[in-house]
Amino acid sequence: MIGVAEALDIILARVSAAGIERVMISQACGRIIAEDVVSGVNIPPLDNSAMDGYAVRGAGLAALPARLKVIGDLPAGSRWNGALGPGEALRIMTGAPLPDGADTVIKQELTRRDGHYVEILEREGAAHIRRAGEDIAAGDRVIASGTRLRPAHLGVLASIKKTIVSVYRQPQVAILSTGDELVDIDGDAGDGRIVNSNSYTLAALVQEAGATPRMLGIARDSADDLRAHFDHALHADIIVSSGGVSVGDYDFVKDVLRDMGAEMSLWKVAMRPGRPLAFGTIGSRPAFGLPGNPVSAMVSFEQFVRPAIRKMCGLRSLFRCTLTAVADEPVDTAQGLTCFVRCRVRREAGQYRARVTGAQGSGILMSMAEANALMIVPADAAGVRAGDRVAVQILDPEFDMSADHPF
Ligand code: AMP
Ligand code: MG
Repeated sequence: MIGVAEALDIILARVSAAGIERVMISQACGRIIAEDVVSGVNIPPLDNSAMDGYAVRGAGLAALPARLKVIGDLPAGSRWNGALGPGEALRIMTGAPLPDGADTVIKQELTRRDGHYVEILEREGAAHIRRAGEDIAAGDRVIASGTRLRPAHLGVLASIKKTIVSVYRQPQVAILSTGDELVDIDGDAGDGRIVNSNSYTLAALVQEAGATPRMLGIARDSADDLRAHFDHALHADIIVSSGGVSVGDYDFVKDVLRDMGAEMSLWKVAMRPGRPLAFGTIGSRPAFGLPGNPVSAMVSFEQFVRPAIRKMCGLRSLFRCTLTAVADEPVDTAQGLTCFVRCRVRREAGQYRARVTGAQGSGILMSMAEANALMIVPADAAGVRAGDRVAVQILDPEFDMSADHPF
């Protein structure tokens, strides 16, 4: 059976970015930029004053106090025509361009004004000048392709007057549930029927991964109904189904995908939960047949679908953050399978500690709801002992965020 790492390699090798669109920067926060942005200009464009005070020639201040003639007043946003001569000062505001001839700004608090003259009482080491291009130099690459645009990036783009950027298109993910036992959320759940909860968890996971979910409902366990639903799913960039991939009498997902011309690359991975996994491509479209059990579907999604979506989104970082934690208690795992154990990680006395969130059956969704992480126990490990250091994959984007302020 194929291991988790090998399965990931197979899947990621068959996935590429979903395409590009152009957006205004006011609409671009959180999007993944699809171009390297190089500045054509210097920011700031000119040497300018970092203080409210007086622009002077530093060489004329050998002996202090010094009395200089004030030749004018320069607010921010205007430029001084002419140069500063010896014995002269120009009143200058923060951000105003430094006049020719000046090399130093003396801050106002170190001066005394006397009509058309100013007395420089003290001078500091710093020149208090912001140099042209000290923030961004013309020719600098300011943002690399594959970066998620954050507020500071938008400020940088605005500064260099780049109003429209290329970003990766957000892939659309078709989600369909399979099973004769399933009913919609508003349906009658008597007589052994089960509410289709996977569509809701999977749609939310898709959204959290940065793609757009399209819920295609429930397909029954017949080749015809599955085929009809999968045909519909071809409008999307990625297809994710749950259920019907085991070896049961009604598990037709793989056959249907193959009939549709999918090139199947996987159908079982050495992991728990989530061993059954069908993966193939229809044209350039990845199709994932996840197992039906709610936790298995989620764990498989986390390990395989999420990195694939992030790669299709154009991101360079594909994986959840993994930390090392100390296990609170022993955990039995299955040798030969990579085990993902639902747990809660907390910080305590300078280290992360992990506590299992309860029964690990693949239908026990509550232990997933209470978990903020998955403990990853390698296939060759003989379980976990209390006190062992274990890898934990953090699922909660708000992990470690504290209500206490840090000061
Ligand atoms: P399967 O992989 O199709 O054999 O499904 C395994 C089990 O997962 C089923 O017996 C159901 O209890 C459960 N299941 C399958 N699909 C869903 C779903 N969409 N929502 C909730 N539970 C499901
Ligand atoms: Mg089924």
